[in-house]
Amino acid sequence: MIEGILVFLFAMLIGSFLNVVIYRIPKGESIMFPASHCGSCNTPLKWWHNIPILSWIFLGGKCGFCGSKISVRYPIVELLTGLIGVVIYIKLGFAWYIPFVFFSFASLFALSIIDIDYMAVPDSVNVAALLFALIQPDFLHAIMNATIAAGGLFLLGFVSSKISNREAMGSADIIVAGTMGALLGFPLFFIALFLSAILALIPTLIWRENGVPFVPFLALATLIVYFFDTNAQLIVNKIIYG
Ligand SMILES: [Zn+2]
Repeated sequence: MIEGILVFLFAMLIGSFLNVVIYRIPKGESIMFPASHCGSCNTPLKWWHNIPILSWIFLGGKCGFCGSKISVRYPIVELLTGLIGVVIYIKLGFAWYIPFVFFSFASLFALSIIDIDYMAVPDSVNVAALLFALIQPDFLHAIMNATIAAGGLFLLGFVSSKISNREAMGSADIIVAGTMGALLGFPLFFIALFLSAILALIPTLIWRENGVPFVPFLALATLIVYFFDTNAQLIVNKIIYG
């Protein structure tokens, strides 16, 4: 129990860092310098303004200096990153590679939020997710699974773009597929792809006009299948075969 709480707190600190990544990387800014500052008045934050969730609550969702509103998204990203950490801890316990699995999912999470904001994702965070996913006990197996998943999706995209005569698959999707392949292996990779399509179905029908970012669904499906592994397979079989 106490370990789970520590994991949650540590993961929320990473969530705090993800907020910086999500805000700055798409703008081409450094994630190290300058230190965190208010987006409105630019005053550098004190350490007690940087405590995940608590600072936002105690400051009433406002900057402590100029009083301008701070988006509720910051504490939500921290909370969800904390929960991602706990889910992975329940799954793996303190396996030596748990930080890397967590950093991979955390990168996918940041990628998802950026995709929602911009309908595009930065290669740097995408490649980081892939590299973290490769660090695990059977490193060669992970590389092979990543290559097959990414290569398979690339071929699928290549063939379908030849047939339909338009760009079907972006390079970003191919890198995400590699990460999914490394984290899940086979056949779970296919289960996650299928699950992501199911998850995206209703949002796609609702927001058809504007287009729907797909990385969030890939990331969520990957986390679900990672956690439930063969049980997820049983559920998807049930959906397909009844
Ligand atoms: Zn301010």
